[in-house]
Amino acid sequence: MSITDQAATAAPIQDRIAALLAKTPTGLLINGQWRAASDGGTFEVENPATGEVLATMASATRADAQAAMDAAANAQASWARTPARVRAEILRAAFDLVQARAEDLALLMTLEMGKPVAEAMGEVKYGGEFLRWFSEEAVRDYGRYVESPEGNLRMLVTRKPVGPCLLITPWNFPLAMATRKVAPAVAAGCTMVLKPARLTPLTSQYFAQLMLDAGLPAGVLNVVSSASAGDVSEPIMADPRLRKVSFTGSTPVGKQLMKAATDNVLRTSMELGGNGPLIVFEDADVDKAVTGAMAAKMRNMGEACTAANRLLVHEDVAEEFIAKLAEKMAALTVGNGVEDGVQVGPLVEAKARDSVEAFVADAVERGAKVVVGGKRVDGPGYFFQPTLLRDVPQDARAVCEEIFGPVAPVVTFKDEDEAVELANATEYGLASYVFTENISRGLRIGDRIEFGLMGLNVGVISNAAAPFGGVKQSGLGREGGAEGIAEYTTTQYIGVENP
Ligand code: NAD
Repeated sequence: MSITDQAATAAPIQDRIAALLAKTPTGLLINGQWRAASDGGTFEVENPATGEVLATMASATRADAQAAMDAAANAQASWARTPARVRAEILRAAFDLVQARAEDLALLMTLEMGKPVAEAMGEVKYGGEFLRWFSEEAVRDYGRYVESPEGNLRMLVTRKPVGPCLLITPWNFPLAMATRKVAPAVAAGCTMVLKPARLTPLTSQYFAQLMLDAGLPAGVLNVVSSASAGDVSEPIMADPRLRKVSFTGSTPVGKQLMKAATDNVLRTSMELGGNGPLIVFEDADVDKAVTGAMAAKMRNMGEACTAANRLLVHEDVAEEFIAKLAEKMAALTVGNGVEDGVQVGPLVEAKARDSVEAFVADAVERGAKVVVGGKRVDGPGYFFQPTLLRDVPQDARAVCEEIFGPVAPVVTFKDEDEAVELANATEYGLASYVFTENISRGLRIGDRIEFGLMGLNVGVISNAAAPFGGVKQSGLGREGGAEGIAEYTTTQYIGVENP
């Protein structure tokens, strides 16, 4: 099966959706073939904007997971020997196909995850860039050759593919989380088994077919969606041929996988949860800070690990900041992401909306005031109003935990020391944002803040060319940048007698 033509944009939306779903594979991809689950089992994918069933997917069993692992292990040696230029050109072809099929990919993400189509197009651009970036990195993954300090050895240091990998992705960025792992693994010469999130497998399935269409050999990328994550991860992680697990998702599941990884001493990359602060100093350009806060809070309905979870605002500019942000948040259009003009889609499932509602109730109970929103939207789908909270106490759950929804709690501070202390008062350390027109102060905060990423006067910093990742309980390793390919290689040193 090959995905050829993209449904014409001009066709009525229901026709486009039907054509797109009809050409998106629903089986398991094992050794280059799409097939049913070994026990015939399936699970359903729902549209969170309507509650309708979009597709019925094959649900991988433990035997299917084992078969996918076998395929990856069998393909490893020849894939590792494939010249880097060939791997690079497959990635570049995949990048071109992502551009050609951008509208299909964006619509699929809107359908299964909820984000508005315009935002989904932004993810296609971002996610596609990993294919281009790693096609360029693939041929420049240099080693070194030096004489030993004593002069008795010639030292050859080479980078080799780490070996078969298990890649586990979350539902919030269905394309980018897959390309951020698959592209460097392909570039490095690793084979892989990808397990997409149960809620959003369709984009990964479509992307996997696109990789085959770009020329990826059978067995290099295997995809096993499943209703039961453990049925896939357990047999694969117990297999001694697996060499690495790369996971993006919540911190509790990441910890579980790290424990499971000890038995076979697997390499691990962990992109986990966040509790990002966005700090607005008294010398900030407040309009810029409001624009940054809108992007960092509202992107993806707040369902981003990089979301500005807490807005920390200097008391001198708090009133102005809150008034301007309130105006912008109240003006947002909430609705089904396939409709024109919609800026905020539904949350991914009923449980997610209930969780966001509980965060708001808890904050209000502890004395916070609702400035904008605060309520679920009745009717089908899992919608929640964009919500701005002020006077939020430090012990509110919305300040201490990852909200993962369109809720912005504002906390005020008096000086730089207090801002840093509040920002760092979390077990997480992924993304942070700082707004100040004093660049020396901005860089000084960079020194003091315990986060892997910091945006200075900007609300979105993710980029395929930059190393993305956290410190503390936000994870281990980096994705993107030159660092991204290193996660999929191992270093070998050969000492040669110096004649
Ligand atoms: P999740 O941890 O529930 O699930 C992530 C993936 O792990 C899914 O594919 C899921 O099926 C799988 N999974 C769940 N339990 C498993 C188990 N026991 N064994 C093996 N696999 C298992 O997370 P989620 O709800 O899909 O995503 C939201 C979380 O992801 C948030 O905490 C968010 O911050 C985090 N996230 C982090 C990054 C990052 O780069 N740091 C990016 C996006 C999302």
